[in-house]
Amino acid sequence: MRAATLRGTGEAFVTEDLRLRDVGPRDVHVRVAASGVCHSDLSIQDGTIPHPLPAVLGHEGAGVVLETGADVTTVAAGDHVVLAWVAPCRACFFCLRGRPELCEHGLDHAFAAPYATAPDGTAFLAAFGTATFGEETIVPERACVRIDPAFPLELGALVGCGVVTGVGSVCNSARVEPGASVVVIGCGGVGLAAIQGARLAGAAPIVAVDRVAAKLDLARRCGATDVIDATETDQVEAVRGLTSGRGADFVFEVVGRSATIEAAFEMTRRAGTCTIVGAGSPTDMVRFGALQLMVGAKTLRGCVYGSTDPARDFPEIVRLQQAGRLDLDALVTRRIALDELNDAFRAMHAGEVARSIITY
Ligand SMILES: [Zn+2]
Ligand SMILES: [Zn+2]
Repeated sequence: MRAATLRGTGEAFVTEDLRLRDVGPRDVHVRVAASGVCHSDLSIQDGTIPHPLPAVLGHEGAGVVLETGADVTTVAAGDHVVLAWVAPCRACFFCLRGRPELCEHGLDHAFAAPYATAPDGTAFLAAFGTATFGEETIVPERACVRIDPAFPLELGALVGCGVVTGVGSVCNSARVEPGASVVVIGCGGVGLAAIQGARLAGAAPIVAVDRVAAKLDLARRCGATDVIDATETDQVEAVRGLTSGRGADFVFEVVGRSATIEAAFEMTRRAGTCTIVGAGSPTDMVRFGALQLMVGAKTLRGCVYGSTDPARDFPEIVRLQQAGRLDLDALVTRRIALDELNDAFRAMHAGEVARSIITY
């Protein structure tokens, strides 16, 4: 099967033929139908997020089950599945406390052993345990969530990371109430999904902040009532202007940089909630005044994977899209072939796209 491999940090992707390992008793062999290109893949490629290489990246995928291991019971050949990049064990400390997105073993399989080898003998890890930048993959049963076969798999792919992360940050993590004021900083695929989540939750106003005009247009389509171009306006002042000087009830930072995190915290009202969704660098330090932390009485929280339970949320998002309550089509900027991946990364780095989707 063909896959886009990454052999070293900062290198380009190379499309090559790989041989998958054997399917274990609890594994599922999936023909990948589509894969989104997510910013976290870029962060691994450029070294912002450390990850052992060589590997095949891609963690936002959907496909069709080709074969299952002997002990697999929840999916069967022919099923349409969305892949989860955390495969919850359902038995650890966090799983038992309703936090499967933090599963202590949810990524064990990704680092346990290579999942495929090249003809020259190079062994590749499946990054995030999913490796959707390839025509086929092998994942644990727990990473597979069956969905309605009538649902388009290219939209299903987006559900597996960007959509559930954005919608989940609003609906699962922060639990935005109707009428609350919401700000979303960063209008890529995840940010646009967060804006749609805020619309779903009945928030108003919904304020989108970005530095690219085209993304702010998309933000309006996704439910933003106000947009702020951070290249032209002081975003903190602009948010205060829209919220009677108080700041917003809920702010979502979907960039992952200290400067925007500090701005997000500042534009959150006293006793409001600031949720960090963007994946930043471990060495990028955020600074707050000690007194302001106390006086503001704000909640600052991180949010992994939209606090999702994949088995619960993936079919729910599919249903909401089918009911016309979500607009996943708005997130798709372009469809590409596997060997156009390097250009998709260039476009993502340049901020030109919400989401590129590889269709196989
Ligand atoms: Zn992602
Ligand atoms: Zn667990």
